[in-house]
Amino acid sequence: MSSPIVLSGIELAAELNAATAARAAALPFTPTLATVLVGDDPGSTKYVQMKQRRCREHGLGSRHVHLPADTSTAELVAVLIELGADPAVHGILLQHPLPSQIDERAAFDAIPLLKDVDGTSSAAFAAAALGQPGHRSCTPAGIIRLLDHYDVELAGVDVTIVGRSAILGKPLAAMLTARDATVTVCHSRTRDLAAHTRRAEILVAAAGRPGLITAEMVRPGAVVVDAGFTPGDVAPDAAEVASAITPVPGGVGPMTVAMLLSQTVDAAEAV
Ligand code: NAP
Repeated sequence: MSSPIVLSGIELAAELNAATAARAAALPFTPTLATVLVGDDPGSTKYVQMKQRRCREHGLGSRHVHLPADTSTAELVAVLIELGADPAVHGILLQHPLPSQIDERAAFDAIPLLKDVDGTSSAAFAAAALGQPGHRSCTPAGIIRLLDHYDVELAGVDVTIVGRSAILGKPLAAMLTARDATVTVCHSRTRDLAAHTRRAEILVAAAGRPGLITAEMVRPGAVVVDAGFTPGDVAPDAAEVASAITPVPGGVGPMTVAMLLSQTVDAAEAV
């Protein structure tokens, strides 16, 4: 089979970021994203710093709250409520994963819907599932934006998602269902994963297991989206079977951050 089309998130994210920067500059105040990090996980620290940097580069303000690793749910919720009430903060991002003592759902649900620019609250999930307006979970929204940009048909198409986390697999399934796709969601307890992946016209790998998806698991001609961080959940040989594939890095990752910035400006414009 010929080389697959590369679904580049870098170019599309750059376009989206330029539009976001122009919208931010047109506001009479600085749209501001508050980032909240609990603990010192090096990966999370790096991602938060990158999001703050992207804010600065595109004319958004950023405010950072760093809490100790032993922060309780009540303490974290209090911080999120305070940020939620602060008129100078337009969007709030709570970096995950959170330390195990924290009730993650209680924390995400403490973020007011209008400032939940990362789309992680239960209310944002419900809005996405019901096709109602609101901020979307950024990685799923970025994936759909990328597929739309490359004119990948969604309506009526068989999609298999490998992964069912609250920030990726589940909201993506809800959003694709709202777009009339026929969605199968797989997870660690799925029997015969390959039987489900081989059926998919669009296959989304979102398991965080490098190389999990091999060429034999991909339907010839499928569109493959790899949401895993470097080196990716899709083995290199799978690209030989796919008709289109997202690169890692440079596929889903830049789209996630671009959606976050764009939704922060959406929130600021709505004030
Ligand atoms: P997560 O919370 O760890 O969830 C992983 C999901 O994959 C779970 O539903 C798990 O099943 C399933 N899974 C794990 N091993 C599996 C296997 N062998 N077969 C089938 N399913 C399996 O991870 P996440 O936060 O959703 O992230 C998933 C990946 O996306 C990670 O690589 C992460 O780094 C990446 N990510 C990328 C971005 C980006 O911007 N590029 C953003 C977020 C996440 P169970 O539910 O049964 O445990």
